[in-house]
Amino acid sequence: MKLHNLIFVGMIAGFLVGYGLYAAHSPTAATAAPWWHATSIWTLNLLGQTLFLSALKMIIAPLIFASIVAGVTTLPDLRELGAIGWKTIVYYALTTTIAVSIGLAAVLMIQPGKSTAGQAEREKRVAALQELRDSYQRDTGQQAVDADGRVRPEYRAWIAETESGRVGDGGKFAMMQQNQGRTAGDIFRDDILKKMLMNPFASLAEMNALGIIFFALLLGIACSFVGPPAEHVVAFFQGLNEVIMQITHWLMAVSPVAIACIVAELVATTGPEVFESLGWYCLTVIGGILVHVLVLLAICKLIGGVGPLQLWNGLREAWMIAFTTRSSSATLPVTIENVTENLDVSPKVANFTLPLGATMNMDGTALYEGVAVIFLIQIYGGLEDVPFVLDAGTTLVIFVTAVLASVGAAAVPNAGLVTMVLVAGAVGLPIYYIPFIFAVDAFLDMFRTSTNVLGDSVGAIVVNRLEAGRLGEPQTQPD
Ligand code: ASP
Repeated sequence: MKLHNLIFVGMIAGFLVGYGLYAAHSPTAATAAPWWHATSIWTLNLLGQTLFLSALKMIIAPLIFASIVAGVTTLPDLRELGAIGWKTIVYYALTTTIAVSIGLAAVLMIQPGKSTAGQAEREKRVAALQELRDSYQRDTGQQAVDADGRVRPEYRAWIAETESGRVGDGGKFAMMQQNQGRTAGDIFRDDILKKMLMNPFASLAEMNALGIIFFALLLGIACSFVGPPAEHVVAFFQGLNEVIMQITHWLMAVSPVAIACIVAELVATTGPEVFESLGWYCLTVIGGILVHVLVLLAICKLIGGVGPLQLWNGLREAWMIAFTTRSSSATLPVTIENVTENLDVSPKVANFTLPLGATMNMDGTALYEGVAVIFLIQIYGGLEDVPFVLDAGTTLVIFVTAVLASVGAAAVPNAGLVTMVLVAGAVGLPIYYIPFIFAVDAFLDMFRTSTNVLGDSVGAIVVNRLEAGRLGEPQTQPD
């Protein structure tokens, strides 16, 4: 059986095993799980998340480094780097903007926050706020509103503190809190400039993709300038690139079993009840993503010359691995393999555009961030701790910050949730409202990560076609 068929069988088998485990013992049950149940989940986690994902992550940093140096040093002319670079950036900027626009149109049309479940959630919150107000006035002896009926800032700060303590959901929420209150200038300085100029060994050790990309580009360009004395350096990185691709092939061979375990664990530990209040929200995100996928397919056919069927046949392994691992960077080795070996994209283009895309170009994440924040405003807008409702100005701020937040998101599971704090903070939505959507985040992450990988791959195909003549490579053939 071909690998993609095996991966597909792995996904189905994983779903069935996971569902069986879920049916045998629900994660929300009051009783403790029987020993065999807990052992099964532990084993699934060991084989999927721990062994397979860690092995993929192990090779990402050297892969990005070697592939970029190899890509730059095999270009016939250094000026080509500029041409590939600006076309790639224009493509990323345009497609991310299109993705956010589609997401905003979907959430404004469907209005998932105004559904019956959304409004029931609002009513619950109104009652909770009334209780909060009573206990504030009782405990502090202060009034929550001033003589003009305006909510007092001290009271709002008190709610924020109380609610953050209540939500306090370990990892994810703590990371969101760290991002709170940071300005665009802070982000530019700390998350972009400082990371780009980090010591390359520290970047490799910490998986700082931006630092690795920048240093690898610099090294590749310098090797091309130095010429013959740098031949051994160039040969080393080109060889390393080949070696890592070999390791990728080995990992892909075991991926069907690993993917079955990842899916089984996810299904066994997440029950369908999470969709009760968030069903319309999930449909809005997935509907928006489907429309964006159609746009990407059209771009791929019209500019890249590759039709949907040929694209699917070439990219299905990367797509399925992205869908299940929920990490564009863990999928990167397979994406490079699929795009260069099955879709005839020159390694000179793919080795540069794909690592950059996995780090910065996230169409699915950008679309999702816009939808999520507007959904929350549709539910909670106008309450006493959310002193605004959605208007054109708020929508525009969400539009711009969703694009930026997607660039800043790391290519790992749930990263979109953490950078959403920037979007929420820009319009004044308190971050303790975000955990309301935690329950379905892993599910939606599957759709957005696979779309992120699709967007990067279409970018590589498009740039490859536009550059084919100048790189002396054959043009990708339409099917
Ligand atoms: N998991 C996504 C990725 O790796 C990022 C996100 O959470 O949206 O591309």
